[in-house]
Amino acid sequence: MSELRFKRVLIKLSGEALAGDGKFGIDPDTVAGVCAEIAELADMGLQIALVIGGGNIFRGISSSAKGMDRSSADYMGMMATVMNAVAVQDHLEKHGHPTRVLSAITMQEVCEPYIRRRAERHLEKGRIVICAAGTGNPFFTTDTAAALRGMELKCQAIIKATKVDGVYDKDPVTNDDAVMFKSLSFIEVLQKNLRVMDSTAISLCMENNVPILVCNLFKGDVRKVILGEDVGTIVHG
Ligand code: UDP
Repeated sequence: MSELRFKRVLIKLSGEALAGDGKFGIDPDTVAGVCAEIAELADMGLQIALVIGGGNIFRGISSSAKGMDRSSADYMGMMATVMNAVAVQDHLEKHGHPTRVLSAITMQEVCEPYIRRRAERHLEKGRIVICAAGTGNPFFTTDTAAALRGMELKCQAIIKATKVDGVYDKDPVTNDDAVMFKSLSFIEVLQKNLRVMDSTAISLCMENNVPILVCNLFKGDVRKVILGEDVGTIVHG
């Protein structure tokens, strides 16, 4: 078996990663592809905690901009992340990987509550842990939840798996001349206002010195990162 660069990581997926070509909803083929990728990493012996966004179903800030109470909208957003988590759990278990959804908002008929020690125990036993419902608090994002859970669960890195290859100086989808960074410091990300993760998440990772690796979810790059290959962008102290 190849040498793994990390023993335990937190992987952050945006909700849109599950939506396929459309930006909305859960596309079963796309979820199957994403889960095959994650299952392969688990097969390699990697301990995996996942945080999945909810933007493919509901984003609190968009509805609050249209007049909805921000907290109510954010609670809807958090519930959307639970739907995504259950969809991903279902597919991962089809690949033969025991997976537990642990929610920051109690939904005992659907999933376990998030209890740090329980999450750690699942990871030690080789189960994939999906941390759902963000931080459980409105006015936060799932990026911040990823940083928070990553610290709590003693993950060695946060892997932000995206639709693009890394962090660029401008949007690579609309700018042909966009240049990708190989390495950035946390301070550079904050000063240049680069869209890696939101500033609360970046600050948490900076204070606790946990690197963020940004790479392409759909090209097998997460595997390469785990094996220590030189792909994507690393953000570190
Ligand atoms: N959310 C929240 N608190 C959290 C995490 C998420 O209120 O700790 C809500 C917020 O409304 C957010 C939505 O859940 O818009 C979906 O999460 P996010 O936008 O981070 O998902 P992504 O963009 O990664 O799909």
